[in-house]
Amino acid sequence: MKTLLSLGCFVALLALVPAAPAGEFKAGAAAVVITPPAGTPLAGYYSFRAADGVLDDLYAKAVVVEQDGAKAALVTLDLITTTRPMVAAARQLIAEQTGIAPERVMISATHSHTGPVLPRGSRIDELTGGQTPPALDYSAKLPALIARAVADANAKLAPARASTTVGHEDGLSFNRRFWFQDGTLAWNPPKLDPRIARPAGPTDPDVGVLYLETAAKSAEPLACYVNFAMHPDVVGGTKISADYPGALARRLADYKGANMVALFANGCCGNLNHRNIAWSDSQRGMREADRIGTELAGAVFRSWPGLRPMKPFAPRARAALVTLPRPKFTEQEIADAGAVVARMTDPKIGTVPKAKAFCTIDTVAKKDAPLEVEVQAIAFNDDLAVVSLPGEIFVELGLAIKKASPFKHTFIAELANGSIGYIPNRSAYAEGNYEVVSARCAEGSGEMLVDAAVKLLKELARQGR
Ligand SMILES: [Zn+2]
Repeated sequence: MKTLLSLGCFVALLALVPAAPAGEFKAGAAAVVITPPAGTPLAGYYSFRAADGVLDDLYAKAVVVEQDGAKAALVTLDLITTTRPMVAAARQLIAEQTGIAPERVMISATHSHTGPVLPRGSRIDELTGGQTPPALDYSAKLPALIARAVADANAKLAPARASTTVGHEDGLSFNRRFWFQDGTLAWNPPKLDPRIARPAGPTDPDVGVLYLETAAKSAEPLACYVNFAMHPDVVGGTKISADYPGALARRLADYKGANMVALFANGCCGNLNHRNIAWSDSQRGMREADRIGTELAGAVFRSWPGLRPMKPFAPRARAALVTLPRPKFTEQEIADAGAVVARMTDPKIGTVPKAKAFCTIDTVAKKDAPLEVEVQAIAFNDDLAVVSLPGEIFVELGLAIKKASPFKHTFIAELANGSIGYIPNRSAYAEGNYEVVSARCAEGSGEMLVDAAVKLLKELARQGR
């Protein structure tokens, strides 16, 4: 009887053993062009701009990893943002085509300001052309293109090696909120302005690098996933461009070959951009994007000797939905917002009043709908986890997640799996200005996301013990 029981347990255990060879790590990567046609309205500013040319192509890039029968996919898009409908549709196609479950797929946007506008279900769509036929047509085609990138990467899965490191770059990204001498808080003040006392917050100099190559003797480069926090709002104008992440990809290709897929995930850069206020240069246009992308590639290259081989486990993934509080507005604020929105194309109205007005009108219209967002974490081994956050996140929040994470390296992809726009940290609310008056979520929301992310990371770390 005892022997039979033991044998029964043994048979049950055997049934749990996955079919794929245990411990073999596989990876595949692919890129699909997602450049829209001429005439498509561009995102990024409070105005209508139809695309009238292409400086460099936009891509959906995907890397799929597999170990012990479990898979995970990281996807980056050269777009201003991700939306929930786009992510849901893409994930469904991905599940159908590859069997990878939705919570194992992370889709983030680089935040390029010279890509197509995406419908946001906001009054701002009327200003930017987000509901025009070319914008809607682009949006309808996007999920299939994203799914194709993942399906192509999945089809290329082959024995691979992974390595990771975190480099350092503190000369490129700047906090764009400043204290003036008189105690007021300025947003993107004029360069060399003598009123500037000091930046109002930190930056994040981490340059996260995940490198994948084939396990063959030749060690062919497969993919390089780079994580750095800085607004890609350099090129401007009416021509399509992936901005500095495009230049970064070209420089990495110079080093490792064009077959390597170079992905860029933007970190918590809600209040960070490339404007060096101590430098009189305008820092606009393609040449500047090339300079910045080249310099960031330099940081990746400097970190290269520090790449350490990873022993991946079966990738672990978790996602949580968090309901955030919406801000409240007085009757006077709502009336003022209506007056501004009625004159939305008036060039005399500045960015900050426009942002505040659209936020107020949208929030009032949606006040009874829960503001639900997703936070996700994917762990590849004890050394590396990637967290997704649903908006333009203040750097302070990203630094808090990294500090509390049980993983040696924690990468953060913002504007991922949907976005609600700016998400400031608690102390910024009292300081006010652009990002705060734009925020669709009330004070304390950012810290709720930090708590949710850290909880997921701790669960993923415990899962193996
Ligand atoms: Zn932004």
